[in-house]
Amino acid sequence: MRKQIVAGNWKMNKDYFSSEIFVSKLINLYKKTDTEVIIAPPFTSLRLSLNMLKGSSIDVAAQNMHFLESGPFTGEISASMLKSIGVDTVILGHSERRTYFNETDSLLAKKVDTALAQGIRIIFCFGEELIDRKSGNQNLVVKNQLKNALFHLPKIAWDKIILAYEPVWAIGTGETATPEQAQEMHAHVREILSNNYSSDLADRVSVLYGGSVKSDNAKEIFSKPDVDGGLIGGAALDAEHFISIINAI
Ligand code: PEP
Repeated sequence: MRKQIVAGNWKMNKDYFSSEIFVSKLINLYKKTDTEVIIAPPFTSLRLSLNMLKGSSIDVAAQNMHFLESGPFTGEISASMLKSIGVDTVILGHSERRTYFNETDSLLAKKVDTALAQGIRIIFCFGEELIDRKSGNQNLVVKNQLKNALFHLPKIAWDKIILAYEPVWAIGTGETATPEQAQEMHAHVREILSNNYSSDLADRVSVLYGGSVKSDNAKEIFSKPDVDGGLIGGAALDAEHFISIINAI
C-alpha cells in the first residue's frame, strides 16, 4: 500500500516569527490520519519547526542542499548540516531551482546520491514546461528527467524516494493540470519505473502532484488512482487552507 502524502513547500516565505505562528496553528488544527504531512520551511525556520513538532507525526523537510559535505561554497548548506539538526527529508529538483539556479539533471543526480548516503529521504520534483506539453513531448521530457537523475540508483534506494510531478506551467500560475492530465502522467511514471525496475517497485513509490493545488481542486486530483497526494506551494502558506488540502485525501 503506497503512502499518501501532503507536503507544503514554503519557498522563500515566512520569517522565524511567522513560522512560529503557522506551526502553532497547524498543531492546533491537525488531526492525525493515515496521510503523512510534511512542511518544508526555509532553512532559518527548520530547527524551530522541528522543535515545535517534536512528538507530532508532522515531518519537516529542507528545500535544498549542496551535494558536497563541506567547503568553500558561500551560502550553501550540506546534507550533514541538515542531519545535525534532525532534518531527514529534502526537496530536490524543484523547477524553481532548475530554472533560477541552473540545476541540471546531472547536478541533481549528485545531490540525490549525497542525500541518500546521509540517509535523507528525497522529495524529487520533475515536470515538463509548457512548450513541451504543447508539442506533445511531456512524456519524453519526464522520462529523461527521471532517467538522468534517478535511474542509476539501486532498487533499495527507492525506499527513500518520493516523486512529485510538477508541470512547470502549473506552478504558481493558478493553472492546474486537469485530474486526467495528472493521472495520465502519474500512470506513465509508474510504467517507466516498472520497465526500469519492477512493477512491484512502481507500485510502492508515492507519486505526488504539484501545481496550483487548492482546497477546492485537491479532492478531485487526489481521487485519481495513481496520485498519492500533493506537493503544495502557495496554498500551504495558510494553515487552515493547508489543513483543508490534507483533509481532501
Ligand atoms: C510548488 O512550488 O511546488 C507548487 C506546487 O507551487 P503552487 O502550489 O503554488 O503552484
